[in-house]
Amino acid sequence: MLPTLRRQLASAAALPRAVSRASNNPVRSNWLRGEVQQVWDTPLMELVFKAASVHRMFHDPERIQLCTLMNIKTGGCLEDCSYCSQSSKHKGTLTKATPLVQLDPVIQAAREAKANGSTRFCMGAAWRGLEGRKRGFERILDMVREVRGMGMEVCTTLGMLTPDQARQLKNAGLSAYNHNLDTSREYYPSVITTRSYDDRLATLQAVRDAGIKVCSGGILGLGEKDEDRVGLIWEVGRLPEHPESFPVNTLVPIPGTPMENNEPVPVHTVVRTIATARIVMPKTIIRLAAGRHTFTETEQMMAFMAGANAIFTGEKMLTTPCSGWDDDKAMLSRWGLRGLRSFEDAEGNKVDEKFVQVEQGGEAVLTPEAMKTIEAL
Ligand code: SF4
Repeated sequence: MLPTLRRQLASAAALPRAVSRASNNPVRSNWLRGEVQQVWDTPLMELVFKAASVHRMFHDPERIQLCTLMNIKTGGCLEDCSYCSQSSKHKGTLTKATPLVQLDPVIQAAREAKANGSTRFCMGAAWRGLEGRKRGFERILDMVREVRGMGMEVCTTLGMLTPDQARQLKNAGLSAYNHNLDTSREYYPSVITTRSYDDRLATLQAVRDAGIKVCSGGILGLGEKDEDRVGLIWEVGRLPEHPESFPVNTLVPIPGTPMENNEPVPVHTVVRTIATARIVMPKTIIRLAAGRHTFTETEQMMAFMAGANAIFTGEKMLTTPCSGWDDDKAMLSRWGLRGLRSFEDAEGNKVDEKFVQVEQGGEAVLTPEAMKTIEAL
């Protein structure tokens, strides 16, 4: 009880004025783009401090969710995402098309991930959508049932979904669906031409309507500008319900793709993106995703400080490298961090109203209960 109380009190005492004002309505879907830009423009150290304060109001800062991603169908995709080696449009890549994997290797991989501490297992297929894939979809529904039956959270990323497909996935036990918006609406056509931003949003709507948690984030390093990063956070931040999870990927340039020579994205941009997203979407799990292996341990810690609270861990992340379980476990333990338990919800970690209350004017104040507890210390 005492460490938790100390954390709550420290959060309240440290609450900066702007964040304190936002506490009146801490989860907003009415962000103006200019407001998100203002948050983004905050001097970096101040921004990280504010984000860390917000983070402590909704999440246990010692917990990091560990997820493992398995590619269940590689390459041959009809979309033309400029960053992806799985697109059939980019002939120069080394990624070869493979059929949908069978059920057994999935069960085996999920068991291994679970034994290594991962609580969420994600399965990705390189497809535009499920149209014309009745038998493949049935197999995927079996995979979802099996993995969920192991007590793990299960997520898939299968391209565009119809409302009916989303409902079937929900009925099979799917916890979350990943479908990234990637970047701002304006910059999107410079990255992908075979589908529109609105196609993406329609799938997100189908997922939400089916009662599946939405996982939707972006990729940094596509050649976008700061205003596109702001535009992405604004788009997800004004969805009727914020995504349960916001992955922050950094481009891993792959030879043979149109983005093979893109400049690496600086770490301060990654940290600024995470901190801004944390303030705009206080309850969302922010996931350090592809490209994490290119950051030093200290850089990753800056990302956790700014509000990231999930990582992908395991052998590989689709077609790019990933830090292994053992390295990650050692790193987290050096920094006093622990894995999040399965199905532990961010909401379960919010500020305890017994100790901290937000007054009419937006000030966070300690309750008489908190004062009594302090006096007894
Ligand atoms: S990112 Fe996904 S949708 Fe785009 S080309 Fe790659 S596999 Fe296809």
